[in-house]
Amino acid sequence: FPSRLPQVGTTIFSTMSALAQQHQAVNLGQGFPDFGCDPRLLHAVTDAMQAGHNQYAPMPGIAALRQAVSDKMQALYGRRYNADSEITVTAGATQGILTAILACTQPGDEVIVLDPCYDSYVPNIELAGATAVRVPLTPGSFAPDFAKIAAALTPRTRLLIINTPHNPSATVWSDAQMRQLEDLLAPTNVLLLSDEVYEHMVFDGQPHQSVARFPGLAARAFIVSSFGKTYHVTGWKVGTIAAPAALMAEFRKVHQFNVFSVNTPMQAALASYMADPAPYLELPAFYQRKRDLFLHGLQATRLKPLPTRGTYFQCVDISAVTDLPEADFCRWLVQEIGVAAIPLSAFYGDGFDQQVVRFCFAKEDATLLAALERLKKL
Ligand code: PMP
Ligand code: GLN
Repeated sequence: FPSRLPQVGTTIFSTMSALAQQHQAVNLGQGFPDFGCDPRLLHAVTDAMQAGHNQYAPMPGIAALRQAVSDKMQALYGRRYNADSEITVTAGATQGILTAILACTQPGDEVIVLDPCYDSYVPNIELAGATAVRVPLTPGSFAPDFAKIAAALTPRTRLLIINTPHNPSATVWSDAQMRQLEDLLAPTNVLLLSDEVYEHMVFDGQPHQSVARFPGLAARAFIVSSFGKTYHVTGWKVGTIAAPAALMAEFRKVHQFNVFSVNTPMQAALASYMADPAPYLELPAFYQRKRDLFLHGLQATRLKPLPTRGTYFQCVDISAVTDLPEADFCRWLVQEIGVAAIPLSAFYGDGFDQQVVRFCFAKEDATLLAALERLKKL
């Protein structure tokens, strides 16, 4: 039968993790921590299971978890989302993104993404029968180019997807950029999907500019979060989505027939764990230290680091080391040097190659030091 996604193969993340395993490489490719989560969170899961939280959760998620997320967004971003009607628990950000796209687009609609972008967006748009319109971020700085976004808007534009802090470039949108976006969208009916899974990983004392802070954006936006990133449990696949009630009603129509609900004991555990804000408030300092450790080590290599303002990714320019395209370099690096990285070309529609690759520094210090030792050989 005809493929729904004829252009799509295996994701770069699966491919690189498999190669890393095959070559016993240090895996700084796929983004996930190699350290454990807070033992209190693990105890909360077993407590929840023992207490009998093992049957279907309510379709939108456990009420206490939705309330905890609402309270956190109010405290951090100053906007109150109604826990009953404006927050839904999802099976990771991935499901939230797909469900939001399915809920708000029709065949023939256009959805703008900013290249480079996370690799699930465009296949999700295609599954919805909509058309992806790729607008490049500014080469070099990865800043949004508002003139280019404005030029891409048409009467058929239904949705714009943004992502800050940004995977893969590790840039963070400023207050001024968010306001520019707010002004740009003000005269339109375009909806916004804001992927904020790295909301608690912003460095150097900067705030995370959540769409929730900007009324003109929040009124038209789905905001995506992921507990996997925040609490070092990417394998749990639990996230949330926040949106005004009218948008959320449409989201839930799809969600109820997509997953119906998300696993119960993890939700119960997360609800009780969220009572303590320390784990997410301490996350910027935790990851900033790892960023700095890795950056310091890179000075002894010929790789040229790009600025990391947020996320747990460090991009490097490889042009002093090789003439190879990024993807070929990454294959060589994992095989010959024993370090896995991700080529940025995987995040572009046309495979644009700028000789930049991405390392993940959500790793034990010993892992980072082992990788750096190998990278010195370049
Ligand atoms: N969006 C971005 C930008 C990501 O980096 C990731 C994690 N790879 C996701 C979404 C998916 O998050 P989750 O693991 O919660 O599905
Ligand atoms: N978000 C992770 C990354 O960018 C990968 C998640 C996945 O493997 N799908 O590395």
